[in-house]
Amino acid sequence: MRAPLIAGNWKMNGSLELVATFAEELSRTALPGGVEVALMVPFPYLEVARSRLPETVGVGAQTLSDQPSGAFTGEVSGGMLADLGVQMVLVGHSERRTLYREDDAAVLARVRAALGVGLVPVLCLGETLEERDAERTEAVVLGQLEAVLDALTADERQRLVLAYEPVWAIGTGRTATPDQAQQVHAAIRARLASYDAQLAETTKVLYGGSMKPSNAVELLAQPDIDGGLIGGASLQVDDFLAICHSAG
Ligand code: PEP
Repeated sequence: MRAPLIAGNWKMNGSLELVATFAEELSRTALPGGVEVALMVPFPYLEVARSRLPETVGVGAQTLSDQPSGAFTGEVSGGMLADLGVQMVLVGHSERRTLYREDDAAVLARVRAALGVGLVPVLCLGETLEERDAERTEAVVLGQLEAVLDALTADERQRLVLAYEPVWAIGTGRTATPDQAQQVHAAIRARLASYDAQLAETTKVLYGGSMKPSNAVELLAQPDIDGGLIGGASLQVDDFLAICHSAG
């Protein structure tokens, strides 16, 4: 029904050499059937990643401009990404929300920019530790979700992938327990159903936050977790492949 997706987020890490290592390993290792695999690499490596990784591995960017072109020095548009054969793009990653002050309006503008050129936006949602401690997890996560979905057409909503990434679990080594993650994923799924039952059935909701080979099996076994967004562990090809196999 929903094929699992394992997407690596290299953040501002990697090198041409690492792209070559992944290209070699992913080409000679059989990827598990029925599992979608993608790598979100830094802008300078997108083209070489697209040309060297197997066709079956998706390539994604980590952000995009909300503008199509113009005097925006340093920015990269969705059209440029599409030109390179990039298929998806992260939007609203917590590092973008906090370090670059991208609020819900900025996130929505980027989702629209991605959809406008046929890219799949991977919309990241997540609460901080303070918000969790104040028992505001669902309010925050569903608020971030609604800020985007309410502004889209029914057709556009069908084209998103979601990623629940508790901010306190990203890059910290601290993972949400499978039960904690499943609870939020179920709430996201229920909110999707309030828009449209089919949307809830078909939308992939990934989990991200210190997912690694040792915890992936249990997380990915949860009924509403449809894959993983993997940061640190996606920089080691063996770990990344082990997580891909956990989803198979
Ligand atoms: C991420 O950056 O999306 C992420 C989940 O990072 P990590 O796996 O390192 O926590």
